[in-house]
Amino acid sequence: MTNAAYFKVTEKTIADLIDMLGQSGVTADREKRAAYSIDETIPRFEREYVADAVCFPENTEQVSMVMKYANEHLIPVTPRGAGTGLSGGAVPSRGGIVMSMERMNAILEIDHANRTLTTEPGAVTAEVTKAAREHGMFYAGDPCSGDISFIGGNVAENAGGNKVIKYGATGAHVLGLEAVLPDGSVVMFGGKRRKDVTSYDFIHLIVGSEGTLGIVTKIILNLIPYPKCVTDLLVPMPSVEAAVKLVPLITTEGGVIPSSVEFMDRKSIRNVEDYTSLRIPHSDAAAFLIIQMDGMDRRQLWSDAERIGDLCVRNGAVEVFVAEDRNARDRVWRIRKLVAEEEWTNAMPILSKEDIVVPVSEISKFLDRLPEILARHRAICNAYGHIADGNIHITVFPDGIGEDENLHELAHPMRRELYAFVKELGGTLSGEHGVGLKRKQYTDIFLNEAQIELMKRVKAAFDPNNILNPDKLVP
Ligand SMILES: Cc1cc2nc3c(=O)[nH]c(=O)nc-3n(C[C@H](O)[C@H](O)[C@H](O)COP(=O)(O)OP(=O)(O)OC[C@H]3O[C@@H](n4cnc5c(N)ncnc54)[C@H](O)[C@@H]3O)c2cc1C
Repeated sequence: MTNAAYFKVTEKTIADLIDMLGQSGVTADREKRAAYSIDETIPRFEREYVADAVCFPENTEQVSMVMKYANEHLIPVTPRGAGTGLSGGAVPSRGGIVMSMERMNAILEIDHANRTLTTEPGAVTAEVTKAAREHGMFYAGDPCSGDISFIGGNVAENAGGNKVIKYGATGAHVLGLEAVLPDGSVVMFGGKRRKDVTSYDFIHLIVGSEGTLGIVTKIILNLIPYPKCVTDLLVPMPSVEAAVKLVPLITTEGGVIPSSVEFMDRKSIRNVEDYTSLRIPHSDAAAFLIIQMDGMDRRQLWSDAERIGDLCVRNGAVEVFVAEDRNARDRVWRIRKLVAEEEWTNAMPILSKEDIVVPVSEISKFLDRLPEILARHRAICNAYGHIADGNIHITVFPDGIGEDENLHELAHPMRRELYAFVKELGGTLSGEHGVGLKRKQYTDIFLNEAQIELMKRVKAAFDPNNILNPDKLVP
């Protein structure tokens, strides 16, 4: 892979891009460039990196033209969805062109015979879910950011979310995708079929590749029947250990694969109470679980809910609140949503948001030792997340760090110590938020030399000039 000395975007470049995309398809306006150069990563990469131009292609052909041009002129290109990423993947670390997919937002087709939905990458995830629903079908991808993220961004990050334990992450729903490679060539991997061993599994190489191998321009998604009934249990638990121990029992003893199991620690719950007028029963409990079950048969679901409720009580639950109707269920999930909202609006500055995964059996060990590690770095945290996947989001707050101190610099030694412990427990760097710019310097903790070398060779095979989203994911 050439570590390219990139060429600068000049007035001539802008004029050439306008020739390809039209006046409304390109901007070099300073404010717009800055706005399209950040995502939701905390602490922000604000003003650290700014694109020289932002392109808004309307179709695959235009994406292809820009990529061909950028490849020939050695100009870095950063693909961008809705910019809700939490790892700096859409941040143009070398300037150059940001390729926004927002105008490629059409849901192209719902095919009943093949149970597929074909969409452009700029469709908002919730719109995809809604379109499938209107046809009586279910798109089961469900990141918590679904109301704002794009489906193309979900594919590029292999976004997870609440329903992975039963339905899988985004990649599990992708049957086919069209991508524009860094040299501008257009490829179609997979299609409206559920079996294909004719080639390497390029679909799942592109899924989760964070825009480093190709720009996704069309996606074919698998649809399933819409689950007719849903029940949520809100379960305060006396200890984190008891909560963690309960999770696998839901399936092994309870005989149910839940559609979600979410965890919130006491600090998360207390933060929500401080932030709102909401009073959460048993908010002094050490941990809360939300257990969601769905299905087609109401009676079956009732009996499952009863059995899982009993199981919770037998395993120490302080109480089990059952939410069956829409309003009650919304109230339960509002608590979980407020945990994240409170952080975003109230609790800045944040030193770091982490996306740790450890085997479920190791979660208690991880959470027990966490305060001690963070204290060494003048930090505290709250923890919540997708516990059935072993995926715990921790939000790390400064505790005694001065306002003038550099959070990026302080976060670094904290993350190294934390990740070394995660590795010791058999865990990994990120479950769903991605490596991006934020975590790339830590991949060496989790990948050995042979793996890193292989990643570099794959990247070079797709992108020999290293123009597509340089500095992301690949060590
Ligand atoms: C409040 C909140 C809640 C969140 N909850 C979750 C959650 O539950 N689960 C989860 O997994 N994530 C979650 N996220 C993170 C984020 O929403 C996801 O990573 C999402 O998939 C990003 O989509 P996006 O369209 O915003 O992509 P962006 O942030 O714009 O880009 C993300 C990456 O994808 C690449 N990319 C974007 N579009 C394309 C394309 N068409 N082709 C190739 N590469 C492309 C970019 O280059 C970048 O590397 C959350 C974020 C927020 C702010």
